[in-house]
Amino acid sequence: YAAKEERGMFAFFEAGMDESLRERRGLEADLRLALQRDEFELYYQPLYNLPEDRVTAFETLIRWNSPSRGRVMPGDFIPLAEQTGLIIPIGEWVLRTACAEAVKWPAHIRVAVNVSSVQFKDKRLASIVREVLERTGLAPERLELEITETILLQDSETVLTTLLDLHAMGVRVSMDDFGTGYSSLSYLRRFPFDKPKIDRSFVGDLAAPAANGDMAAGGEAPWRLTRSALLIVRAITGLGSGLGITTTAEGVETVHQFEQMRLEGCKEVQGYFIGLPRPASEIASMCSVLDASLPLRAAARQEPS
Ligand code: C2E
Ligand code: MG
Ligand code: MG
Ligand code: MG
Repeated sequence: YAAKEERGMFAFFEAGMDESLRERRGLEADLRLALQRDEFELYYQPLYNLPEDRVTAFETLIRWNSPSRGRVMPGDFIPLAEQTGLIIPIGEWVLRTACAEAVKWPAHIRVAVNVSSVQFKDKRLASIVREVLERTGLAPERLELEITETILLQDSETVLTTLLDLHAMGVRVSMDDFGTGYSSLSYLRRFPFDKPKIDRSFVGDLAAPAANGDMAAGGEAPWRLTRSALLIVRAITGLGSGLGITTTAEGVETVHQFEQMRLEGCKEVQGYFIGLPRPASEIASMCSVLDASLPLRAAARQEPS
C-alpha cells in the first residue's frame, strides 16, 4: 500500500516537474529567437542631478515584446538569460543600442547600462565596451555601467582587471542596489567604482511627513524602520561625498523623498516621481519638461503653507 502510494506521489511530482521544465524550455526557445526577431526594446529612465537641477543621465532598461507572451519585464527573463548564457549576446545588443542612441543626446547627458555578473565574468567585456564606443562614437565618459555587488563574489582577479581596464578607458562604473548585497563597505575600498546607487528599499522606507506635523504615525517598529532607513541613506551619501563621488538614490516616488534626498546631500535621484522609464523617442521631451518643471515643483513645496 505504502509503495503504491509512493509511486503515485512520485508520478505526481514527475508530472509537475515536467510541466515547469516544459515551461522553462518554451521560454528559453522563445528567448533564443527574440534577438534575431528584434523583439527587445530599450526604455530609458531619467536620472536627475540635484546640484545642477537638470537631467544628466538616463538608465537603459530592457523590455521584451514577445508575440506570444506580450510585454515581458526583465525580472521575468534576465535570470534565465543568465543561466543559459543568452545574456552575453543580449547584453551586447543592449550596450550597442544604448550607446548608438546616446550619441544623439546633448553632450551633458550620460547613458547607464546594466551589466550582469555573467557578462562581467567574461574576460572580453572590456574589449567589447571599447569596440562599441569606437564604433558608435560615444565618449567613454558618457557611459556608466551598472553592476551589482554579486559581481564581487566572483573571481576577483578578472573582476579587478576588468574594472581597472574600464576605469583606464574613462568609463564609469556604478554599484546598483547598494546596501543590499555582500560586504559592500570592504569591497568599496578594494574595487574602484564611481557611484553607489542607494537601493530603493531604503528610500521607500523613509517616513512620510505626518499631516499634523508630528513624527510619522505608527508604533515603535515603523519608527525604527524609517529611522534606520534615513541613517543608512545618510551613511551611504556621506561615504560618497567623502570619497568625492556622486551618490544616486533609486526609487524616489514622492516629493517628500525627493526633498529628503536633497537635504541629505544626495547628488542624483531616480524614480517614478522624477520620471518613468520611456521609449527613446520621448527622451527630448522628458528632458525639456523635467528641466523646466522639477525645480518649480520642488520650490513650491518649500514655500510655507
Ligand atoms: P535596476 O537596475 O535596479 O533598475 C531599476 C528598476 O526599478 C527598474 O525595473 C525600474 O523600472 C524600477 N523603478 C524605477 N523607479 C522606480 C520607483 O520609483 N519605484 C519602483 N518601485 N520601481 C522603480 P525594471 O525595468 O523592471 O528592471 C528590473 C531589473 O532588471 C533592473 O533593476 C536590472 O537589474 C535588470 N535589468 C533591466 N534591464 C537590464 C539589462 O539591459 N541588462 C541586465 N543585465 N539587467 C537589466
Ligand atoms: Mg540599474
Ligand atoms: Mg538599480
Ligand atoms: Mg534596485
